[in-house]
Amino acid sequence: MYPDSDEEDDWTKYADTGYTSTYDPWADMVPATEIEEEELDEEFEEFDNSDFRSRDIPRCPAPVGIEHTIRIGTCNHCLGRVAGVRIAGDPIDLVGERVRSKALERDADLKVNDDIDCCPFCEDLFLELDLIVNRIIAAIDGVEFSKAQLGIHFAKDHVAAEEVLRSTIAATGSRPLKATLSDAVQFAVSEKIPGIGWVKERPEVMLLLDTLTLGVNADVRSLFLYGRYRKLAGGIPQTRWPCRACRGREGGCESCNGTGQQYPHSIQSLVCEPMVESIGATSDAFHGMGREDIDVRCLGTGRPFVAELKSPLCRTVDFEKLTKIINKAAKKQIEIQGLRASNRAEVSRIKETKAEKSYTIRFTCESTFSDEEIITRIESLAGQVLEQKTPQRVAHRRADKVRKRKVISIERILVEGNEVEFDVRCESGTYVKELVHSDEGRTNPSVAGLLETDCEVIWLDVKDIHAD
Ligand SMILES: [Zn+2]
Ligand SMILES: [Zn+2]
Repeated sequence: MYPDSDEEDDWTKYADTGYTSTYDPWADMVPATEIEEEELDEEFEEFDNSDFRSRDIPRCPAPVGIEHTIRIGTCNHCLGRVAGVRIAGDPIDLVGERVRSKALERDADLKVNDDIDCCPFCEDLFLELDLIVNRIIAAIDGVEFSKAQLGIHFAKDHVAAEEVLRSTIAATGSRPLKATLSDAVQFAVSEKIPGIGWVKERPEVMLLLDTLTLGVNADVRSLFLYGRYRKLAGGIPQTRWPCRACRGREGGCESCNGTGQQYPHSIQSLVCEPMVESIGATSDAFHGMGREDIDVRCLGTGRPFVAELKSPLCRTVDFEKLTKIINKAAKKQIEIQGLRASNRAEVSRIKETKAEKSYTIRFTCESTFSDEEIITRIESLAGQVLEQKTPQRVAHRRADKVRKRKVISIERILVEGNEVEFDVRCESGTYVKELVHSDEGRTNPSVAGLLETDCEVIWLDVKDIHAD
């Protein structure tokens, strides 16, 4: 029934040249599952190549399969998942323990083979459960969260070897190692920190376990807050702007008074710094629905933004209190309102929304037309589509092309001596200063063109952003 020594030599030659899959010395054998268990036990004693043996041992849950699985050093966790026994509601290691003691009842001499030093399925990972749990707890110490996701990284060869072993001797449908380890870790962490919701997407904390080093990395996901800012003073950029002289290096330079910043404040710093401090974040990012020039104020209900606070220790925010802290510290340079919880998806929405905007603009002009004629000519711009070549002031950072933008409405035109002021509502992306002074004819039509004279902008305010 078994190959004699010559045949075995022959097989080895094929094995060395990689022909094992095409040459099967066992091909004519009766399937092992049909052989009486006791008979098999005896026979395997005589045959000591474990690689061969496993081929003919029935898979779990056959008792012989379970005994073999125990002999090769399978731990209780892995025995519980591969034995093909289900005991509802019990932890998997307890299931394994029962399977083992049942097998020992059948055969008191059953023991792990002498040369085995760890569980062939998990490489004793389950023995490290306490260590893993302690490392996870240390990694999330002091962090407020309710939803966590666990990711486990295995070495590729471990995954492959475990799969081969499982497909050879484990019961059909046995739970994979990764899922079982994941369950065990989650269960053990939840025992120590109750109330964690384990999720498959959008966690607040992403835990990553590396099974090779048993290192744990906790990635605390950003907290997003939506609000609207009003910018009441000029001279404030929207985002932090590194000093041109020192490029924002640590400690700054003489020209930036050691701040590393081109301007002492930005909307970002005024809004986010109190947030970072109050929720214990490490840093921030600022996402505005468009932006205004440094010298332009932003009034009305303000410009929508989403502040992103990275690695926050705290997620419960008292919006009213935080708004007050920010507004007080900003000393009337800016003001925020409508603060509420947000998410990453809203950042895209904010970035992509093409909101119409209303502006108030004031300029000087030396037009010889009567006040009525000036008003009539400016009013004629309402409903027109402007063709705007990229303004010279931004040409260095934008491609030179022609933009078409519609003027929705023009209201409240005031002529006061050689100064004119009006409100204009236009499509997102309109160059409003250019609409007035024409940028040497690069914007058409324009106020300057219609009034047949040079116009010089005194100031421009964003009056409102028609976002939502
Ligand atoms: Zn194991
Ligand atoms: Zn500097």
